[in-house]
Amino acid sequence: MTQIANDMIVEIHYTLRDDENNVIDSSVGDQPLVYLHGHQNIVPGLERELTGKAKGDKVQVRVEAADGYGERKGPGPQTISTEAFPPDVTLVPGMQFMAPMPDGSGHVPVWITGVDEASVTIDFDHPLAGQNLNFEVEIMRMRDAHENELTHGHAHGFEGDGGHHH
Ligand code: ZN
Repeated sequence: MTQIANDMIVEIHYTLRDDENNVIDSSVGDQPLVYLHGHQNIVPGLERELTGKAKGDKVQVRVEAADGYGERKGPGPQTISTEAFPPDVTLVPGMQFMAPMPDGSGHVPVWITGVDEASVTIDFDHPLAGQNLNFEVEIMRMRDAHENELTHGHAHGFEGDGGHHH
C-alpha cells in the first residue's frame, strides 16, 4: 500500500485542539486539506508523524509548541493606527502581512489580532505560537506530485492536472 513520503500530494481531514480540548480549527464537514508533503507546508511535528501513513489511517498527534508554530518570541501585542494601512484594505483579525523592519533590513511576518475603529492590534508571533497542538487526522488519499507542484513548493489541488490555477 502506498505510504506518505516526501514529494507526494496528500489529502487529510483534521481537527486541531488546544490542551483544554477546545477546537481551534477543523476541516471536518468542510474541504479537506491538500498539501505537498516534505516541503514544510504544515507544521514540522505533524508532517513528521504523517510520514509512512497510508490511506484510511487515523492518527492522533500531539505537537509541542516548539515543533508547531514555535515559541512566542516577539515583543507581544502592539497597537497601531489604522492609518498605517492602505485605505482600500479590509482589516480582519487573523490576517497576515509582511511589515518592513524599522532598520530597513527586510520584512517580517505580522498578524492582526484585533481591529477597532481607529486602531489595529498586531503581533509578531503567529496566533498559535507558544501553544501545544493536538491533531486528530484521517488520511483520505495521496498521489505523486506533478513536476510544477515541486517547482512551486505547494499542491495545486488534489484533482489538479499540475496546471497553474492561482
Ligand atoms: Zn503554484
